[in-house]
Amino acid sequence: MKKDDCIFCKLANGQIPTNTIYEDDDFRVFLDAAPATRGHCLIVPKEHFDDLEDLDDKVAAKVLPLAKKIMKLLKEKLGWEGFNVVQNNKELAGQTVFHFHMHLIPRYSGDGQNILWKPGKPAEGELQSILDEINS
Ligand code: 5GP
Ligand code: ZN
Repeated sequence: MKKDDCIFCKLANGQIPTNTIYEDDDFRVFLDAAPATRGHCLIVPKEHFDDLEDLDDKVAAKVLPLAKKIMKLLKEKLGWEGFNVVQNNKELAGQTVFHFHMHLIPRYSGDGQNILWKPGKPAEGELQSILDEINS
């Protein structure tokens, strides 16, 4: 299914031109318009899914093998030294385009990016209590 008002449906299906580096029956991989680093690209399914929660399992199973393939291609062509895979779900977590996509972000020394989180300091017993809640 495609969604009429969705920009990524149009980009993934070629209705709007993109800087495409890879395409198959299920996905288009194109350069992010506001790249964090050189070669920052997005894996975008041609079908519409809002986010990972909504993503079809058969499509989901193809995403990581594709990420690995593109990662290898970018290493050969651009020579990255590190690599971040980022996938945001829901506005609270930084998702701005509500069509599932995975960010592939090559990293280079001195690229000025900092795609990390602030480590927390759990209180005594907090991890156990979270574990109990999840496993209950
Ligand atoms: P999110 O914040 O949803 O995880 O990521 C959305 C990404 O899509 C952003 O990095 C943004 O730069 C990129 N983006 C948004 N609109 C367009 C567009 O029209 N073309 C391309 N190539 N990238 C886009
Ligand atoms: Zn869409």
